[in-house]
Amino acid sequence: MTPPLPARTRVAPSPTGDPHVGTAYQAIFDLACARQTGGQFVLRIEDTDQARQVEGSEQQIYDTLAWLGLSPDESPEVGGPAGPYRQSERLPEYAAVAQQLLDAGHAYHCWCTPERLADLRKQQEASKQADTGYDRRCYGLTRDERAKLPGFSEKPVVRMLVPDDPPLTFTDLIRGEVACPRPDDQVILKADGFPTYHLAVVVDDHLMGITHTVRGEEWISSTPKHLLIYRWLGWDLPFFVHMPLLRNADKSKIAKRKNPAARLMWFRENGYLPEALVNFLSLLAYPPVHEGSDIQSFDELVASFDWGKFSTTGPVVDLGKLDWLNGAYIRALTDDELGARIVAYWDEVGQPVDAVEARRVVTQAAPIIKERLTTLRDAYPMVDFLLVDDDLLVIEDDAREALPEQTPQILAAAIKALGALPGDGFTAETAEAALRASLVDGLGLKPRVAFNPVRTAISGRKVSPPLFESMAILGQARTLARLQSLK
Ligand code: GLU
Repeated sequence: MTPPLPARTRVAPSPTGDPHVGTAYQAIFDLACARQTGGQFVLRIEDTDQARQVEGSEQQIYDTLAWLGLSPDESPEVGGPAGPYRQSERLPEYAAVAQQLLDAGHAYHCWCTPERLADLRKQQEASKQADTGYDRRCYGLTRDERAKLPGFSEKPVVRMLVPDDPPLTFTDLIRGEVACPRPDDQVILKADGFPTYHLAVVVDDHLMGITHTVRGEEWISSTPKHLLIYRWLGWDLPFFVHMPLLRNADKSKIAKRKNPAARLMWFRENGYLPEALVNFLSLLAYPPVHEGSDIQSFDELVASFDWGKFSTTGPVVDLGKLDWLNGAYIRALTDDELGARIVAYWDEVGQPVDAVEARRVVTQAAPIIKERLTTLRDAYPMVDFLLVDDDLLVIEDDAREALPEQTPQILAAAIKALGALPGDGFTAETAEAALRASLVDGLGLKPRVAFNPVRTAISGRKVSPPLFESMAILGQARTLARLQSLK
């Protein structure tokens, strides 16, 4: 059951590359929870691992969330009352809490060098020891005492002192009661003064008034560390929600190295509609809003949202289903909307077209291509022959080879018949009627033969979208020009 309070949820990606599809997946449900309860959805940038930062990644996070209609109420970009929202700008907060824990004896300095820690781990592995945690070499020692021992580094880290009886269970809104292994003396403040995730997440979720700590299931086993820090500081626990991990068809975890669809930008680059992607992601490990239908709006999700409805099994990201949904969303657009979306997509991917003319052509072509589009990306190869200058139209080799021997007579008759139509009466219907009368009835040809050279002249291809509609989009003069050039 979702607790009835104005929720403050957050998504907290690290800006270490292209945004991951999991960020959007979480943002959908975070935002649904916030909207349903009249609360806020916060975006926090977790940039504490300075070595892994990627330039431009933070901007991509803002842009892709905005593209999906999942913009946060508070973020480094838009600000808000609980800022700063970038962890690298909150170092004094973490240092103060670390000091508080040191003073209370819940944490201690550790001067061990990375080499000593690596050796320790190797030894533990070799001796097949069950406890592979830190051996507390530094615990209880002053700097000077520790400095006399091997493996000393001048700059200490701060470790938490895990007691003998740490809390090892917690309640998760999706999973119910969850049991975890015992944590070791985790580093909470690094030698460079940056916190680790474990300290930062607790401090920030508390200070930002986050009511629901929603994150991927890989963080379940870390939760006892967080429970301890909350307990030591006397802070109320948030609700914990560990979302299932998205998976590839082979059930492995979806990762950017192996699956391009792990990159959120991939969907945009490949012409998926943001509302279709949101619909698709909102059905992963979560039941449809309307039984028996996969089409649902974000507002419908909000109205019936409940964390308890999640399944805990990692859902497979089935792009076939996304294709189907995307096609359905495309067909639900008006011709004008579809034209606008296609031209905007071309602009984004750098397809060179004259935007005004392209908008006209593609809006007119919308009824004849809509049924065959899966993504916006499919549109260009279907209509490129309508956008190219008449003298630059390429006649494909297979189309040229398939021209019948009567081609010169057919083209001459077609030019005559179409040229005779009044300019303002040149439509798909009148063009078809004129060509049938002149080529099929007049020359006594089968339609397949009669229209072959006309199609090749107009589109340069053996197969094109409906011929007469294409001619109407080109208009009489350009249709005649194309017929003339093949003649
Ligand atoms: N920065 C963490 C990540 O990218 C966030 C985990 C959380 O949401 O608490 O996985």
